[in-house]
Amino acid sequence: MTRRKISILGSTGSIGENALRVIRNLGDDFQVALLSCRNRWESVLQQARNFGVDTVVITDPGAARRARQEAQGVRILSGREGLLEAAARTDIDLMLNALVGAAGMEPTCVALSAGVDVALSNKESLVMAGDLISRIRQQTGAHLYPIDSEHSAIWQCLAGEKPEEVRRLILTGSGGPFRTRPLDTFSRISVEEALRHPNWDMGAKITIDSATMMNKGLEVIEAHWLFQLPPEQIDIVVHPQSIIHSMVEFVDGSIKAQLGVPDMKIPIQYALMYPRHAPAPWERLDLTRVATLTFEPVDTERFPSIRLAYQALARGGSAPAALNVANEQAVYRFLQGDLMFTQIPDIIANMVEQHPWIPHPDLDDLRQLEAEITRQVQEWPGQKS
Ligand code: MG
Repeated sequence: MTRRKISILGSTGSIGENALRVIRNLGDDFQVALLSCRNRWESVLQQARNFGVDTVVITDPGAARRARQEAQGVRILSGREGLLEAAARTDIDLMLNALVGAAGMEPTCVALSAGVDVALSNKESLVMAGDLISRIRQQTGAHLYPIDSEHSAIWQCLAGEKPEEVRRLILTGSGGPFRTRPLDTFSRISVEEALRHPNWDMGAKITIDSATMMNKGLEVIEAHWLFQLPPEQIDIVVHPQSIIHSMVEFVDGSIKAQLGVPDMKIPIQYALMYPRHAPAPWERLDLTRVATLTFEPVDTERFPSIRLAYQALARGGSAPAALNVANEQAVYRFLQGDLMFTQIPDIIANMVEQHPWIPHPDLDDLRQLEAEITRQVQEWPGQKS
């Protein structure tokens, strides 16, 4: 069997590191051909040495310069151009995109355009450019394999099923750290509190998205593009234990669920090995130890981001992209400590409402939209005392 060549964008983040653990465990299935990071140049060089990787992209120019002095034969590409050059490589069999935020969109489009299959952790790609990505995939026939645990669950539940027999998708969400916190204290939520997720260990941006539940809203949009179902057929149920990763209900009332411990290595490996379930040594689910699985409806008063995401999806065109960029920039400002937690959905609602709506945005439109909304959110008056 020939080894499949894989590139990993965002290899020093939580998904990237787990992907390398999965690849290590799979043994001879994959050859890691390329890694990328923003500025953690020492970590990425260490990964390159461990996996015999000959090319690394470091998007931060200063970090790339420092890395070149220690590269010892590893080729270093830098900047946004380096990242896009890496995504366009047609000698790669599979590109794993674990970049964070809107920055991941263009590499996904570039790889799919080049006919390269993509294992997608960067949900923002589909939220920003779902329509464009669908058109590109129709042209090139490149595959998209979801890594997000909910979408991996749905994908597994759909194996062998007929699309017309699906009644609805049921995305599960933990509800994050503020599921039961008194609503009148939300404006006082601190960055530290918001960064404490009960079940999943993730990067800062997605952890805040989980606290606002915008993560679930983005996942509804992601599911729409992956599984081609209208928003009315995509529901959310709060499931605090994060054991059921999502479900599919069929027209006869039967519901299939996918369960497992909250460990991203499982969906990562399924995306890499699809349609196979390959042996793995990770921790197993012991249902007798979990004992209780509970479910609640989602509270959109508490989490207005969910409603905003459904509205943006229903409006279509550039609305989900505007939602995504506004959210991302508001989250970064919250993380810097100059916005209140409750300002995040206010800013998003305003930006989606005010932006110049485009029915079928292309890459240039999306770049322009991103620059414009980024600027506007950065200028939004902070209210933290
Ligand atoms: Mg998820």
